[in-house]
Amino acid sequence: MRHLPLFRDLKGSRVVVSGGGEIARSKLRTLLRTEARVIVFAADPHPEVEADATAGRLVLVRRPLGEGDAICAALVYGANGDTAEDARVAGIGRRAGALVNIVDDLEGSDFISPAIVDRDPVVVAIGTEGAAPVLARRIKADIEAMLPQALGPLARLAAGFRHAVEALPFGRPRRDFWTRYFDREGRMALDTGGEGAVRDRLQSLLDEHIAGRVPAGRVSLVGAGPGDPELLTLRARNRLHDADVIVHDQLVPRPILDLGRREALFIAVGKRAGGPSWRQADIDALLVDHARSGALVVRLKSGDAGVFGRLDEELDALDAAGVAWEIVPGVTSAMAAAAEIGRSMTRRDRNSAVTLATAQDAAGMAEHDWRALARPGAVTAIYMGVRAARFVQGRLMLHGADPTTPVSAVENAGRPERRTVATTLADLPQALVAEGIGGPAILFLGLAPRRQAAPAALPAAMEA
Ligand code: SAH
Repeated sequence: MRHLPLFRDLKGSRVVVSGGGEIARSKLRTLLRTEARVIVFAADPHPEVEADATAGRLVLVRRPLGEGDAICAALVYGANGDTAEDARVAGIGRRAGALVNIVDDLEGSDFISPAIVDRDPVVVAIGTEGAAPVLARRIKADIEAMLPQALGPLARLAAGFRHAVEALPFGRPRRDFWTRYFDREGRMALDTGGEGAVRDRLQSLLDEHIAGRVPAGRVSLVGAGPGDPELLTLRARNRLHDADVIVHDQLVPRPILDLGRREALFIAVGKRAGGPSWRQADIDALLVDHARSGALVVRLKSGDAGVFGRLDEELDALDAAGVAWEIVPGVTSAMAAAAEIGRSMTRRDRNSAVTLATAQDAAGMAEHDWRALARPGAVTAIYMGVRAARFVQGRLMLHGADPTTPVSAVENAGRPERRTVATTLADLPQALVAEGIGGPAILFLGLAPRRQAAPAALPAAMEA
């Protein structure tokens, strides 16, 4: 991390902007939201900058920045879009002891401006050290969608009530109070009666907590199926609809999350391929904390929660905390994949058992009873197997599997982007690479497709 994120108090500080065109305007839009005293130096300012000056939002000096103009400034922005002029501005700024930012020039800047999600007083800053502005914008859009507009007023009202909440013992009782306020009660009050109702609710909520009248929350561990909302159970749908908090894996797609209430709190805890992942202990704590504060929590996992979903660890944590829970089963990926290729998973005279196996476990590549899986007629659905395909192939061949054993790789089963690769054990790794299988996929060993799953091109009428 080359740049340290920090929040600088600009109340009453001088902030100098050199330039009055488009580039300066986009900086000013953010700067004018702060409590800084903003001074713009521009010989030929944009009318919008003039209007800001007339309205008293900034001070406009109609000439280029000169030596001495940056004295006592906290920040100086070079926003002329002219390399030589901005370099001159940087020199003046630095000689005056200010921190300098040249717009879109990482190397020429002492600090850089993050992308911002503004729910004042809650502000989220996103930085990529200049590496990927497009990514920063994507993340910003995700966070914008995640944080309700009401968060700002709720946080502000909470700040005013913080002192009163000291009537509750430090630690969990206070945390439970605030979780309940931010998860549900605050937002409901704001929606129905505005800020006055929120103040009333803060007081009545505090009275309830002091008297120990906190409703019991619970956790539903819900299988979200392979990704198509139509493959959810009705119960899963109902739980989503009632949930105050939805804790979901990354594999659960947007159309399913959209079934939750708009006011619900959505928390993504899964692991993106290659990205950082949540620690299981933190997920456990999250479920326990929200349930204890009285929330109806839905823990949404792809497929069935009990298939390679670390379900038991979460149940152990809930039991240990005395939190009530239920399991809502879902369509596991293997079942969805079998449906895509038009095959049953078991068949008389072929296989009277089917194996659901993961190619990876905590230690890396997972070991199995390969001799049993290599037997003629055996059917095995391999989860998390794409990157491990060569390992799986090697182990099976070593234990006598027929190289011509059919294999169906079903990617994105149950979703519009579905695809099948029909191959054999001998060709498996090459076929996956050649077809560019990169999404979640089931490798069905011992099943040739009766038909190929193809990306959906439904007529508009069927999509509704
Ligand atoms: N609990 C899930 C499995 C989670 S493990 C279930 O019951 O399906 C994650 C693995 O599931 C992925 O690596 C992939 O092998 C499989 N998977 C998840 N969604 C899938 C989908 N839509 N199509 C094919 N495989 C999928």
